[in-house]
Amino acid sequence: MSSGIVSAVEEVLAGIRADGLYKTERRIASPQGPRVTVATSGGERPYLNLCANDYLGLANHPEIVAAAHEALDRYGFGMASVRFICGTQTLHRELEQAIAAYLGKDDAILFAACFDANGAVFEPLLGEGDAVISDSLNHASIIDGIRLCKAARYRYASGDMNELEDRLREANRDGARLKLVVTDGIFSMDGHIARLPEICDLAERYGAVVMVDDCHATGHLGATGRGTPELTGAGGRVGIVTGTLGKTLSGGMGGFVAASQPIIDLLRQRARPYLFSNSLAPPVAAGALKALEIAAAGNDLRARLRANAARLRAGLSTAGFDLVPGETPIIPVMLGEAQAAQAMAAALDERGVFVAGFFFPVVPRGKARIRTQVSAALGPADIDTAIAAFTDAGRSLGLI
Ligand SMILES: *Cc1c(COP(=O)(O)O)cnc(C)c1O
Repeated sequence: MSSGIVSAVEEVLAGIRADGLYKTERRIASPQGPRVTVATSGGERPYLNLCANDYLGLANHPEIVAAAHEALDRYGFGMASVRFICGTQTLHRELEQAIAAYLGKDDAILFAACFDANGAVFEPLLGEGDAVISDSLNHASIIDGIRLCKAARYRYASGDMNELEDRLREANRDGARLKLVVTDGIFSMDGHIARLPEICDLAERYGAVVMVDDCHATGHLGATGRGTPELTGAGGRVGIVTGTLGKTLSGGMGGFVAASQPIIDLLRQRARPYLFSNSLAPPVAAGALKALEIAAAGNDLRARLRANAARLRAGLSTAGFDLVPGETPIIPVMLGEAQAAQAMAAALDERGVFVAGFFFPVVPRGKARIRTQVSAALGPADIDTAIAAFTDAGRSLGLI
């Protein structure tokens, strides 16, 4: 029987390879950052990194590394417990309170990852007779989280406010008791920003609560980095925010839900990935806490990030590339078919630029792209190097 499974698996793998969709992993032999060293068959090679979620450049920030070292000495390495048994240190509560204060919520609850936060949040809050109304391009973890709850599911085409209103009406017609509208803050494949003020208008008109997964925004987007609610002016109208400590806020790991006190209190009692999974390691929590402090005071970093993004956008656009317009540090370079994106990624790899090509099924067919992500840790000269490499690679492939 086991050999039956193995041969079935081998068939699936062969199919993935035949479709040209098999993913391999390059090996970084240095800390994460704007410049990394990659282990290749010909030895270690330096790269300019344009694909980390390290928007403020905090993944290897000296103050964060120092805070993690200090926590390692003071609090030790691991917790070996879930939170409610013996896995809560003063550090964990400090981090939760700092997240809540930064996002203007009563409280926050930590998870091992935002994937877990999104997997945790729906089931305790919504049951049979309730409704969850979800944007069609929401993150996989939201889709999975919704699957785990018993509420009726409604889906609207991404960003389509008419469809959202239709779904809210349907939910009402179906007699839904509680209604939750859920959206990514930034849709990471395109860098599009959710239309939060309009979503909140509709939600309020139909008596729904709004939840935003702001993983790609918290810490850098908006005047003080408080994410899409701040940028769009929706602010406190968003009832529930989920986010990650694995992107802007240190790039370490961990996720959270921030919301009103009763919601957080109930999640502590009922959220399964919280009740049945280990606490964040102390150095990780301490690094994230320091990252929050840096991000909260990081107007200079945000200004540099915006300047870098504008410089890369302008340079690639002048070179003749087709970019998805936007106002985030996510700048997708549209290349059409998967082969073009793969060839471009390979050509950039040869030129020492670390990027990733995205193609079906991650993005629709014919919409293959290279997604670049800018960091505040890059300098203007790095951006110019990247533009020159893209231009050279694009010309050599006849793409521009
Ligand atoms: C990255 C991401 C997640 C997952 O966050 P982790 O903390 O890495 O699990 C969830 N939602 C969105 C929108 C993300 O971009």
